[in-house]
Amino acid sequence: MKNAPISEELFQRAQHSIPGGVNSPVRAFRAVGGNPRFMVSANGPYMFDEDGNRYIEFINSWGPMILGHAAEIVQEAVQQAIPNSLSFGAPTRKEIEIAELIIDMVPSIEKVRMVNSGTEATMSAIRVARGYTGRNKMVKFEGCYHGHGDSFLIAAGSGAITLGVPDSPGVTQGVAADTLTAPYNDLEAVKTLVEANKDQVAAIILEPVAGNMGLVLPKPEFLQGLRDICDKEGIVLIFDEVMTGFRLAPGGAQELFGVTPDLTTLGKIIGGGMPVGAYGGKAEIMNFVAPAGPVYQAGTLSGNPIAMSAGMAMLKYLKMHPEVYTNLEATTSKMVTGMQDNMHKLGLNYTINQVGSMFSIFFTQQPVTDFESAKTSDTALFGRYFNAMLQRGIYLAPSQYESLFVSTAISDALVAEYLKANFEALQEAIQK
Ligand SMILES: *Cc1c(COP(=O)(O)O)cnc(C)c1O
Repeated sequence: MKNAPISEELFQRAQHSIPGGVNSPVRAFRAVGGNPRFMVSANGPYMFDEDGNRYIEFINSWGPMILGHAAEIVQEAVQQAIPNSLSFGAPTRKEIEIAELIIDMVPSIEKVRMVNSGTEATMSAIRVARGYTGRNKMVKFEGCYHGHGDSFLIAAGSGAITLGVPDSPGVTQGVAADTLTAPYNDLEAVKTLVEANKDQVAAIILEPVAGNMGLVLPKPEFLQGLRDICDKEGIVLIFDEVMTGFRLAPGGAQELFGVTPDLTTLGKIIGGGMPVGAYGGKAEIMNFVAPAGPVYQAGTLSGNPIAMSAGMAMLKYLKMHPEVYTNLEATTSKMVTGMQDNMHKLGLNYTINQVGSMFSIFFTQQPVTDFESAKTSDTALFGRYFNAMLQRGIYLAPSQYESLFVSTAISDALVAEYLKANFEALQEAIQK
C-alpha cells in the first residue's frame, strides 16, 4: 500500500500558488481521483516520490525517457556542456550538428528549425503552411492534440479531453472558423471538407499515429489517402510527430508507414528530457521561414546549448542502436499479450491498441479507431484501475485518453511484475 501524506500536503499547498496546483493539467489526477504524487528523483524504470514510494513507470515524462530515466549518455552530455555557460543567444556548432542529424534520421526533412516545445513547433508549422500557400484554413482531426496553440484547441485531445474542454474558452471565433475538423481515419470526411473549402485549406495536420485520445492507429489507406488529397489540392501535409518521432522508428511514423509529409513537427524525445521542439520539411517550404523568407518565427532560448547537447546524445544513440526499436516492441508485445491473457482469465474483453513501444488499454469492447469509439470507454472503471495499479507501485498515465510508453529500462522481470499488478488491479477495479 503506497501512502503519500507528504504529496497530499504539497498538493494542498500548491493550490494557493499554482492554478489547480500543477503546471500542466493532466498531472492533477482529476480524471482518476486521488492526489498526484510529487516526484523527487527517477532512475531507469523507477520514479521516487516525496514520500519515499517507488514506482515502475510508463509515462517516461510523456515520451522523452525512451532509454529510461537519467540515461548516462544524456546526463554526461549535459554535464560536459554546463561549464561553457547555459546560453549564448548566438549560433553554435551544435545547432548545425543536430540539424544535420535530424535531416539524416527523418525521411521528409530537408531543413529544420529548433524551438522550445511541441506547442511552438506546431504553431510555427501552421504559420509557415499559411504563409507558403497564402490560404487560411486547416483541417485537424477530432481527438488529436497538437499542443495548446489557439488554432488547435478545437476538438483537442490529451488533457483537453480529460478535463472535458476540447474547445477552450479564450479562442476567438475567427480562429475557430479557420479550423475544420474531421473524425480520425475518415478520408471521406476530409474530402468533403476540402471540396467545400476549395482553394482555402493551407494544411492538413495530424498525429500519424494518434496518442492523445489513447493510442489509435491509422487505417492502412489513411495516411496515403491524405497524401493524395494534399498533392491534388496543393495542401501542405503536416505530420505532428512530437510523440511518435524517434519513438516508433529512428525516422518516426513516416519511416514506419512509408508516407512522406511536407512538414513534420517534433518534440519530446528530441530534447532527451530538456524542453525542445523542432519543425522541418521540404526546403522549398522551410525557406519561407525568417530570415530566409517572410514568415516570422524566433526564440530567445531556441537551440539552447544544454538542450542541444541532451538531444544530440539521445538522437545519436538511437540512430546508432536501431535494435532499440525491435527490443522495445518485443517488450511491449509481451506486456500486451500478458494483459490479454489476464483479461481472458477474468472473463474480460477490453480493447488494447499497440504500435511499437506505445499502447493503451481502453475499457470498452469496441475496436477504437477514432475519438467517438475512444469515448465509449468506461472512464470510471479506468480511474479505479489506475489507482489500483498505483497502489501496487505501477505509475500509469492518469487518464484513459493518453498512450503509455515503454522504455528500454523495462526488463522481463519488470514485465512480470507489471502483469501481476495488472491482473490484481483489473480484478479489483471490476468488483466495485
Ligand atoms: C505533447 C504533444 C504536443 C505538445 O508538445 P508540448 O511540448 O507539450 O508543447 C504536440 N503534439 C503532440 C502530438 C504531442 O503529443
